[in-house]
Amino acid sequence: MPVPFPALGERLAKPAEIVISPVNLTANGPAHLGHVGGPFLRMDVLARACRRAGHRVRQVLSNDHFENHVVVKARAMGRDPAAFARENDRLIAKGLAALDITFDTFPDTGDPAVLARFRDVAGALAGALDAGGKVVLRRESLPVDDAPVAGFEAGTAPIEERFCIGGWFACNCPACGAPSGSFFCEACGAHYSPAEAPQPRSRRGNITGFAESACLYLDLRPVKALAQSWARMRIEAPFREVAQRFLDNSRPEIRLTVPGLHGLAWDDRRFRDSQILFSYSSLLYAHHILLGEFLADEGGANPFEAGHPALLIGATAIDNTVPMLAGVTGCALAQTRYRGFDRIYFNHFLHLDGEKFSTSRGHVIWSHDLEGVPGLDTDILRWYLCSIAPEDAAGNFVRAECAAFHERVRATLDRRLQALAAILAAEAQTAPDPDPGIGAPMRDLLQTQHECLGGDGLRLRRFAATLDAALALGEAITTPAQAQAWMRGFAILASPVMPRLAQELWRAAGLDGAPQCADFARPARPVPAALPRRDGPPLTRAALDALTP
Ligand SMILES: [Zn+2]
Repeated sequence: MPVPFPALGERLAKPAEIVISPVNLTANGPAHLGHVGGPFLRMDVLARACRRAGHRVRQVLSNDHFENHVVVKARAMGRDPAAFARENDRLIAKGLAALDITFDTFPDTGDPAVLARFRDVAGALAGALDAGGKVVLRRESLPVDDAPVAGFEAGTAPIEERFCIGGWFACNCPACGAPSGSFFCEACGAHYSPAEAPQPRSRRGNITGFAESACLYLDLRPVKALAQSWARMRIEAPFREVAQRFLDNSRPEIRLTVPGLHGLAWDDRRFRDSQILFSYSSLLYAHHILLGEFLADEGGANPFEAGHPALLIGATAIDNTVPMLAGVTGCALAQTRYRGFDRIYFNHFLHLDGEKFSTSRGHVIWSHDLEGVPGLDTDILRWYLCSIAPEDAAGNFVRAECAAFHERVRATLDRRLQALAAILAAEAQTAPDPDPGIGAPMRDLLQTQHECLGGDGLRLRRFAATLDAALALGEAITTPAQAQAWMRGFAILASPVMPRLAQELWRAAGLDGAPQCADFARPARPVPAALPRRDGPPLTRAALDALTP
């Protein structure tokens, strides 16, 4: 993070304004633990660490109701895509909140008032891109299939419903030949038109022919400017290489529109059919701009408007590298009204018991199911997830390991909390200053945490390891002064990872508000009776196994 972090007990001279806008999820299903333990938890920890430092942070999210896979899945289930997307959006919010990941604004883009505003944003972005002169109209022969469309006789549905594209389309990649589908090749990163892909196949029927469409693309040249913006955002090498591979294997352009009826329309008299914003470029960027509009409601301008001083932070898993680094960044460079991100943090995938999360195979833990798991302390789960963060390589959530970690940490915490209560109760009438003897190592641990956030990437594994060291410091406590210092220091150090425990400790230390680096030595009288316990029922491996549907 290109912002200063204060030392323990110090106040920032000049707080920064920070907007964190992680990539959205496709509302074709709920959020699973792989999503949550990836960009969302990482950004939540970052947001809390920046708030603890004294910066003004706002975190925002809106999910994609229009991506083609929403329509694909809704149709397969005989559901209305809009209602289906809203239902999933609510489950996603519930799943994130189950791990205390919440947002300053999280609009439901299925709500008519929000949707009207979204259309305005899309129109403004389309206008800005048109004025930028990099929008290209491309005629394409898109495959059409014979799949039945609800409410229409065979062959009579609107052409937008009969195009076999997105989640319905399978092919071989025109660049590398690997089995592929939709618009991007997972094997080589190429971005292609279904019109040019060999062995086109329909996943819902048979391709019966091709029909002419005219779609918009964004000319990404000069690609040097794009690569320079990746360097400016300090994108880590493995992810920059994915984006470079896309440039090497594709024409220097990215799709801006697709034919469709379920989405935000892009108006252009040259179109032959209804075109909607493409989820992996224009629509993705429009989501962030919409969220900026909601932030502007609180006063001030939209932080995505050019010239705004806020630091814009994005985050996503590796599968959205090209959409973020070519789609969103390309759209930001191609016009002058809105600006791009200052930093985008990428992560690898998180696996479950050694294998990829898979909805179709049922190899999944839905985040909203975590609510009400017997014995689960979500603070400790957050700590475990940080300790396996997929930052240098894929991470692996191992249920047996998680349960063991949970019980070890819980027992240690409870012992520490009980010992603290006994020491403080002996001299409850005094309000000792925090002891500098414990303050010094606490200060070093905070410095280490800040180093984990200060580089090109985030290093939450090392960040979380400081909590082990902070817990160990508590073993040597014998005086109320030391106890006071440890409670405050641990609350500050733990607050980004374990927000509930940190808040409880802060209150027990006699302090109001949320844990702040600057308030480490603020005078207050501790309240030993308010010290929390961690002595509930155990979390078992069986309880975690039961989460798999
Ligand atoms: Zn390929």
